[in-house]
Amino acid sequence: EVFYFDSINSTNEYAKEIGRNSNMENVLVISDIQTDGKGRLGRKWLSSESSGVWMSLLLKPNLNPTDASKITQIASAAIVTAIEEFYNLNVGIKWPNDIIINGKKIAGVLTEMNSELGEINFIVVGIGINVNTKSFPEEISDIASSLFLESGLEIDRKKIIEKVIYYFYKFYNEYIKNKEFNEVLDINKKKSVTLNRDVFIIRRNETFEAYAYDLNRDGELMVRDKDGKESVVFYGEVSIRGV
Ligand code: ATP
Repeated sequence: EVFYFDSINSTNEYAKEIGRNSNMENVLVISDIQTDGKGRLGRKWLSSESSGVWMSLLLKPNLNPTDASKITQIASAAIVTAIEEFYNLNVGIKWPNDIIINGKKIAGVLTEMNSELGEINFIVVGIGINVNTKSFPEEISDIASSLFLESGLEIDRKKIIEKVIYYFYKFYNEYIKNKEFNEVLDINKKKSVTLNRDVFIIRRNETFEAYAYDLNRDGELMVRDKDGKESVVFYGEVSIRGV
């Protein structure tokens, strides 16, 4: 089922509303424009122009809530694979949810979960891709870019939507039906711009520096601090910055 809007506050909010009020699943919500697009940790995702793909999928997988973060990695792998079919660009994944080209963010994933008593009621995975955007407002022009700006190619957004959804379900079904996550993990490792470097890990008010050396089997970030102590960084309230 597809819900298509010219304009909406946030495709994630709309998909969550459907999730709360119906038994529907595998619903795709797309809008040309979002007036209140959301990023992680209460941040904003600029999507006030119809130059990008702003969409959310409502899913009801039979999964443990601790596995919900894998949905973000499935979405990232799908976005990268789709982009590389259309553009000759070197696409990277900044753990856990940003898609990067030439050091700039061209897409992001925002996964939100509704769970109770250790069970997932639904998951909404939001995908924002700057496709044909020609310029960005000053506050993000240093960090944001678009597929058009990086490649000079203008591509029909529908084609991008189709491919991303195709690969998303390919990887998602492999994982949900066959518990097979290796291909997604491989793509996330191979394309990572976070691994094999020193990073700052910012968690609420605390920041620590460590070397990011791998993703574990669940896609969590493995880091080593200056004393050689190894630990796992979970999804959630962390931001990663290059040192
Ligand atoms: P980080 O991990 O780098 O701290 P994040 O993953 O938490 O970032 P997101 O929630 O994915 O960030 O995205 C929100 C941030 O992305 C905003 O604070 C802004 O800096 C930037 N941003 C907002 N809109 C766009 C856009 N259309 N394209 C690229 N970047 C954007």
